[in-house]
Amino acid sequence: MRKKNLHYKASLLGELAGFDVTGFPLAIFPKKHIARSSLIYPAAGEKGECVNLFKVLQSNLCENNCFYCVNRRDRDCPRVEFTPQELASLFLEYYKKDWVRGLFLTSAINISPDASQEKMLETLKILRQRYNYRGYIHCKILPGVDTGLIEATGRLADRLSMNLEAPNQRCLSELAPDKNFHGELLDGLRKIASFNKRHPLKAGVTTQLVVGAADDRDREILSLSHKLYKDYALRRVYYSAFTPVEDTPLENLRPCPPLREFRLYQADFLLRKYNFTANELIFNEKGNLYLDRDPKLVWALNNMDRFPVEINKASFEELIRVPGIGRVSARKILEVRRNTKLKELEQLKKLGAITKRARRFITLDGRFYPVKEEVKPEIDKQLFLWEEI
Ligand code: SF4
Repeated sequence: MRKKNLHYKASLLGELAGFDVTGFPLAIFPKKHIARSSLIYPAAGEKGECVNLFKVLQSNLCENNCFYCVNRRDRDCPRVEFTPQELASLFLEYYKKDWVRGLFLTSAINISPDASQEKMLETLKILRQRYNYRGYIHCKILPGVDTGLIEATGRLADRLSMNLEAPNQRCLSELAPDKNFHGELLDGLRKIASFNKRHPLKAGVTTQLVVGAADDRDREILSLSHKLYKDYALRRVYYSAFTPVEDTPLENLRPCPPLREFRLYQADFLLRKYNFTANELIFNEKGNLYLDRDPKLVWALNNMDRFPVEINKASFEELIRVPGIGRVSARKILEVRRNTKLKELEQLKKLGAITKRARRFITLDGRFYPVKEEVKPEIDKQLFLWEEI
């Protein structure tokens, strides 16, 4: 009976933990992800590899009433909670079978943020101290949690995160009336970032935003992300395209198109790895990224005075601004041109550049390779999943 009860909790709390996932990992790893159970979540690792994590809620009992959430207080659904011992043992079962490489622990807010955080902390203590588990742990910090609890959790985890949900108070009020953007969420993230500065976490600090449920604009979302990378040294900002949940106040709202989430990730990549600032990104009249073209291409088309660049002379910074040339291919170009002059598109292709996209933005030994007007729209619309473009 006890075992049956545990499996029931596991399938329910695993499935509910999957509610706030971003579509991005599933878009990159559609074939690699083998759904052995709802508890297994395919996360993107540091080098872009697929890492299966045991993602679960400690509890889905919640005192808050966020409008979009499957676990909101007023929603009629089964409510269960793991004891720390139950959760630790179940996780180790999966870990020992080599089904997962780490734990991603989160929770709804039962009784108070501190009470729920303490339960998660207890689970971490059992794993680290009783079972001597040394593997990966990502633990969510709940909004409003005491600083001492943040620090105690941080000493046992590899990554901490707190979901900001929205880019500002205006949007947050449309989603989560019980939460305060500056006093609770941003301040909580600041405390986590401050802990990380003093005691660096192996996998850093992250946050997540729900996109498309409120009147949010990509411009405000990416300005916030840029600030978080710069001032809080965040490792990643994740974007989760809104999907309506039955029996919530937002159930009739249209889902956010997955392509919007994808474009946000591409723009985010430009901020983190290509030295773009949020102000350089190009938005439409509503303040959103263009959906039909990737943000680097849109930037280049709006800055044609900076092109064409001569491949044999351009700096690394100039090369990575060329659509179709990523950081890896830019490094290879610099290396190869020390000994050889690059004269042919084929040579560039061999170095990993997407030449059909890059050709109209470059010269090779003084030669320009124009693209016929009629094929430009076709090339511009192509969706490159790989980040290195
Ligand atoms: S605090 Fe809000 S988002 Fe978090 S579980 Fe509760 S209702 Fe859902």
